[in-house]
Amino acid sequence: MTTATTDPSSSSGARLDRALASLTGLAVGDALGSQFFVPANGPLLRGGDLPPGTWGWTDDTEMACSVVAVLAARGGVDQDELAAAFARHHDFDRGYGPAVNRMLRLVREGGDWRELSAALFEGQGSWGNGAAMRVAPLGAWFADDPERAVREATLSAVTTHRHPEGVAGAQAVAAAAALASRSGGAHRPEELIDGVLALLPARSMVGLGLERVRTLLDYEDSATVAAVVGCGRRSTAQDTVPFALWSAARAGNDFRKAFWATARAGGDVDTTCAVVGGVVAAAGPAGAPPAEWTGRTEPLPAWVPESAGLEPVGPESVGPEPTGTEPAGPESVGPESLGLESVGLGSAGPREAVGPAAG
Ligand SMILES: [Mg+2]
Repeated sequence: MTTATTDPSSSSGARLDRALASLTGLAVGDALGSQFFVPANGPLLRGGDLPPGTWGWTDDTEMACSVVAVLAARGGVDQDELAAAFARHHDFDRGYGPAVNRMLRLVREGGDWRELSAALFEGQGSWGNGAAMRVAPLGAWFADDPERAVREATLSAVTTHRHPEGVAGAQAVAAAAALASRSGGAHRPEELIDGVLALLPARSMVGLGLERVRTLLDYEDSATVAAVVGCGRRSTAQDTVPFALWSAARAGNDFRKAFWATARAGGDVDTTCAVVGGVVAAAGPAGAPPAEWTGRTEPLPAWVPESAGLEPVGPESVGPEPTGTEPAGPESVGPESLGLESVGLGSAGPREAVGPAAG
């Protein structure tokens, strides 16, 4: 077919609206979830009651805002701009993992993200859950083309998380958000998991975890499922993403149900809830967090584009800061150059307890 497409779901305005809906859910999940690291809030969690005050978001939201800003400015993942945006907006007090903290400081000082990301964990790259935690809005953005969502998720992941598991976690979350956006959350749980598995380009521990949770969709108790597949206690993609997508798949577009089931399992609660919130809210208004929850969440930074009706963030506000050095070369680091299409499990299995998790 050579007919030009005018699919309204592919317009930049529609894409931005979807991404912002997902970003709002991600931020609420992150901010409310992180409240339960405060020991005094433990009883509230058991009772399903909200903590007092305003809930501040963490690194999950800060990085997701950069993803959305770059998409709004460029229409896709420009890796140099994304790495520069991560570095420029990096706030040390937002709970980043130590490896990413150091890496983003070095990028800010003029370092090459390609070299720094590849060098993490003695050259293995990070398999932390940090690429997955920020990527749901990208999936919503490309919901009109889920395969592209997976490709762009790959490009976004490797700016910080180059290990194939870190990449697979991002691919899975982006796929889930794209599919949730397409269905408006009106999918059967197994449909969402099957759809994600069909979009994953390579075998991975993340994929094996998804196959496992596919058999646990009738379980009511999230803690039991978390005991089987993990819930982020190791901060790896593979012990975070299968559980989070299990929870998102079961909840459909019910944000409350999704949040409490996810948070009660414990683990890396801000990140599991950010992933779940970003995927569920990608469904649009039906999957949005309760208005009170959004109102209690710290507002997003002013540099995030606010709505499709407004001018998107200009290139100058997401571009690299002057560093005194030439920016890295223009070629993308993608799945081909990483060999991700053919990655096996042999390099990923044995290091579970001491693996390259950078958050
Ligand atoms: Mg966090």
